[in-house]
Amino acid sequence: MFWRFISFLACQLVGGFAGWYLTFPGRGMAGALAGVVLGAAGWFLIDLSRGLRLLRWLRAGDVSDVALTTGLWGEVCDRARRLIRAREQMTRESENRLQEFLAAFQASPNGVVLLDAQGQIEWFNQMAATHFGLDAQRDVLQHFGNLVRDPGFAAYFAGHDYRRELIMQGRESTPARPVKLSVHLHRYGEGRLLLLSRDVTALEQAEAMRRDFVANVSHEIRTPLTVLGGFVETLQTLPLTDEERERYLALMAQQAQRMQTLVNDLLTLSRLEGSPPPGASDWMPMPALMRQLEQDAHALTAVLNPSSDHLHQLEFASLLEGDIAGAPNEILSAMGNLVSNAIRYTPPVGEIHVRALLLPDGRAEFSVQDTGPGIAPEHIPRLTERFYRVDRSRSRDTGGTGLGLAIVKHVAQRHGAELKIESAPGKGSVFTIIFPASRVRLRSNTTEGLHASASAGLPATK
Ligand code: ADP
Repeated sequence: MFWRFISFLACQLVGGFAGWYLTFPGRGMAGALAGVVLGAAGWFLIDLSRGLRLLRWLRAGDVSDVALTTGLWGEVCDRARRLIRAREQMTRESENRLQEFLAAFQASPNGVVLLDAQGQIEWFNQMAATHFGLDAQRDVLQHFGNLVRDPGFAAYFAGHDYRRELIMQGRESTPARPVKLSVHLHRYGEGRLLLLSRDVTALEQAEAMRRDFVANVSHEIRTPLTVLGGFVETLQTLPLTDEERERYLALMAQQAQRMQTLVNDLLTLSRLEGSPPPGASDWMPMPALMRQLEQDAHALTAVLNPSSDHLHQLEFASLLEGDIAGAPNEILSAMGNLVSNAIRYTPPVGEIHVRALLLPDGRAEFSVQDTGPGIAPEHIPRLTERFYRVDRSRSRDTGGTGLGLAIVKHVAQRHGAELKIESAPGKGSVFTIIFPASRVRLRSNTTEGLHASASAGLPATK
């Protein structure tokens, strides 16, 4: 400011002196005064031109090209440049933060859509694009309600009550492969909306399975309980002969046994699901396993067919001189279930062949073949579902719980083994468990593993 004042004075002095010099000796004072005014005017003109330069520079907005360096305008220019630089830096940082936020939303496993106060799309991530079939080029600034036509969603969107999430059909949902989406809108800012979507197909399926399971277990337990209750009432109210009483008590014991078997199978399943997979260091000798299964099979056919003229023809062929690694009681229970099914579903005098053999690639195969009724192809993929039965009454008559093959499948999976089912109506069935080569050892070293589990036996009435 000081130098600005000095330069202003200097211009006037120089102008005054020049005026005086040029008009001397005639009108020296008037010339000097005019010179002062001209000097001041000149200073103002130069100052104005510097000011205009600065204004042009500011309008151009290119801070790298320095407009002025000296004087008051130079300082204004310098300050303005620093201010602009600081603002640019802040904008850059804000943009980087915004990009980081958007990248985080992009990485989210959930769909995210940002809607403005009019419900138009401002931004969405890739997952939302997949969930709703959105296109970044085409759909930004489109009204979201016009793009998602699901009636449930339309009512939810228009209802303005976003306290709860909405479960709706996914875009690619088909009756065979239903896809369920959870959609939840949240308000933010001034009337804006954040939409979160997630694929809940697996969750919904698990929930449906849980509901089915509880309903099935309740049903399975209610039936024998109702029968038991009926007999108890009969025993309490009716005068019965000793013979009748004996008969009723036997039937009650049968129903109690049925409930016991069901609870045991449920506990087995829950143990299989809740425990870590068995290690591969416990070896069981296959020939001993086969002997145990054979003993149990003869006992079961005798129990199921009290008339000894009509027993099943059982053939056991142990062609694998080796061991299998795994949990002894699980393996015996899985194999026992297959043998028990073959006996229970094959009419007496039918044939049942049980084989254990080594495959050329080192895997071991355990198979149970029967000459029973066989199973129609449409049932085969569902046999290992819990409580799935082809013939309910036959299963019930023989004390089946509908959980046997579910247990077999679990045990096979836990041992890295494969369960194969081949069957055709009228042609019998073959159930095979194939153990991986890593769980097969050819030289038999131990017989202890089996003895521990031998007491498990075949499920007599399942
Ligand atoms: P269940 O306790 O009813 O036997 P499983 O899970 O062991 O239950 O078997 C499921 C269904 O598969 C049975 O209800 C039966 O209809 C069918 N099944 C299983 N094994 C055989 C077999 N060897 N022959 C014919 N049908 C069978």
